[in-house]
Amino acid sequence: MKALQSIQDIQNWSQACKKNGHKVSFVPTMGFLHEGHLSLIRLAKKNSDQVCVSIFVNPLQFATHEDLDAYPQDLRKDFALLEKEGADVVFVPKPKEIYQQGFQTKVDVTELSKNLCGKSRPGHFEGVATVVLKLFNIVQPDLAVFGDKDFQQKRVIERMVEDLHLNLKILGAPIGREYDGLAMSSRNMYLSSEDRENASVLYRSLQLAKERVEKGQMQSSSIIAAVREFIERAHPTGIDYIQICDAKSLKDVVQIKTESVLCLAVYFGKARLIDNVILEPFQQ
Ligand code: AMP
Repeated sequence: MKALQSIQDIQNWSQACKKNGHKVSFVPTMGFLHEGHLSLIRLAKKNSDQVCVSIFVNPLQFATHEDLDAYPQDLRKDFALLEKEGADVVFVPKPKEIYQQGFQTKVDVTELSKNLCGKSRPGHFEGVATVVLKLFNIVQPDLAVFGDKDFQQKRVIERMVEDLHLNLKILGAPIGREYDGLAMSSRNMYLSSEDRENASVLYRSLQLAKERVEKGQMQSSSIIAAVREFIERAHPTGIDYIQICDAKSLKDVVQIKTESVLCLAVYFGKARLIDNVILEPFQQ
């Protein structure tokens, strides 16, 4: 596996792949890789000839009070995992390689970025969309893989690809979970052992929502209330949001009539954990 740091090197690599008739896939990450990330790489490998993974903790998507400086990193371990998984190239640019002096252009996917995490993290999705477009332009992939764990992020990227006529395909990968259902996340390492145990309530609460919808409950407010009550019993530090939205527009729905998604963001200790479940409308 090659580790490349410069834009020029990655572009040369990608162009050489294309010249050889190879299909290039791309998996952007912020590193501190876990099994959830690796499942994306496996999907990329299955659907292409050459896989590029990027590791870049993107300053543009963090607000000043957020955990940019504390974001966990272990490049040595990441490289070993990528090597084992059979990634062909890892792109590890320095921030100044991506954000050159005088940089000022940003991408705003206006509507999809408004709700959910966009509400509590203003500017976050602008930072995500901007860096992902830059990375797409650098790597020039035929396809890119994003995790369903960050459902809103995946929707924002899909919309950007469509709106800007980008010539690549986006694949979504299912949420990788721990033995007790907790969604894998680099941020889980912030959890104390007690919080780690309690945090499994999130997955169980999503299951509860799914069961209610399968039994015919369609009113978002009553499902959300049940989920909230269930989560509160596990003593979270705070609940940022629990919302049910249309899975395409990400606008809140009063009744579940179209494919919907329950998304939540909950704090345990200082870890802000997000998770979601797709809710299909009840059919008799
Ligand atoms: P991150 O390193 O957190 O920016 O994530 C990089 C990519 O991995 C994104 O597309 C995430 O949605 C995806 N990802 C992170 N955690 C998981 C997970 N538990 N299951 C599936 N995909 C994930």
